[in-house]
Amino acid sequence: MIDFRELADKYKTPLYVYDFDYMTQQYEALKEAFRGRKSILAYAVKANSNLSVVKHFADLGSGADCVSIGEVRRAFLAGIPSYRIIFSGVGKNDDEIREAIERDILYINVESEAELNRVELIAKELDAVCRISIRVNPNIDPKTHPYISTGLHGNKFGVDINSAKRMYIFAKNSDALDPVGIHFHIGSQLTELDPIREAAEIVADMIRSLEAIDIELKFFDVGGGLGVKYKDEVTIAPYDYAQAILGTLTGLDLTVICEPGRFMTANAGYFLTKVLYEKENQEKRFVIVDGAMNDLLRPSLYNAYHKIEAINKSDEQPTQADVVGPVCESGDFLAKDYPLPPLEHNDLLVVHSAGAYGFGMGSNYNTRGRSAEVALENGAERLIRRRETFDDLVALELEYLNK
Ligand SMILES: *Cc1c(COP(=O)(O)O)cnc(C)c1O
Repeated sequence: MIDFRELADKYKTPLYVYDFDYMTQQYEALKEAFRGRKSILAYAVKANSNLSVVKHFADLGSGADCVSIGEVRRAFLAGIPSYRIIFSGVGKNDDEIREAIERDILYINVESEAELNRVELIAKELDAVCRISIRVNPNIDPKTHPYISTGLHGNKFGVDINSAKRMYIFAKNSDALDPVGIHFHIGSQLTELDPIREAAEIVADMIRSLEAIDIELKFFDVGGGLGVKYKDEVTIAPYDYAQAILGTLTGLDLTVICEPGRFMTANAGYFLTKVLYEKENQEKRFVIVDGAMNDLLRPSLYNAYHKIEAINKSDEQPTQADVVGPVCESGDFLAKDYPLPPLEHNDLLVVHSAGAYGFGMGSNYNTRGRSAEVALENGAERLIRRRETFDDLVALELEYLNK
């Protein structure tokens, strides 16, 4: 049992708390599921990019899937070896591409023909050979929230199968490009296996047709997307996930790369917030707390559900309330119509499943400093990011004030 009250008193609120032992379990379970094949788990840094979190995965042997050069630099700082770092994303700029090539990472995940041309040009300028993989869009409906669906032709990600084939032939004929992988990532918070299996089949067939024209890839990169339980979702077991993918690879000698983000950290994380006031009007009961959309955006952005627990209040009768923050937006809420007991000033609420896409989506909107972050590991706790101060927030502006 985590003593949330003690953590809240010691580090103040709002506060993020991460259970590193839970992250270890998730990593080991997924790694074990792919046993019997060469595999790399490349943790998707954007899910939770705190350096200590990334280092924790580095220590477990993880790679990193990065979507900006900033994330690539974080991966290096945290000790992920270059040969396990992947750089994905629809819009990489020239400087980012150049640095990725110079850092000699495992491969750049290319998402358009135009980008392939840029990568080739920059590799030539550097007199380098750049390993690439191509992100294909298998046009599969992942049956998840439209904002986190990525594998349909209506989404901006990847290229269709026919363009991909042209791109592989182009890359093979270039002395500045080395096509080593193929990648797909159909969406996030996936809870159904069929779309994953279908996508893997399409991409595995593509590999076979490339082999027929002497293009031999080494990496089969299935992206991330493994869903987690926020409320009552039935999720995919790691073993079934791995089997569905491996089952499509008969006769192919490939290293499987998997890029889990949410699966690794979501349920390792808790967001602690204190009650400021209650108020009621004719229609609604509001619980006003010190945490807000600038700390945890998912409810506002996706209408996402997070379980909320009122600490030491379990014997009182709950009624429905909106849990709202101090930010000046009607969209600033952590929950709507959520059953909660009567609450008073300083009561503590724990928002569950906040370890992925929580802190990282935070902002300084309303000149609110971002929360501190605390790690729990082997029964001990430690600060892994201090709370932002007002001085931090104005530091980049102050020097221009009187110019
Ligand atoms: C976001 C992302 C991931 C991680 O997705 P999760 O749903 O958090 O597992 C993996 N790969 C790519 C390319 C991504 O953009």
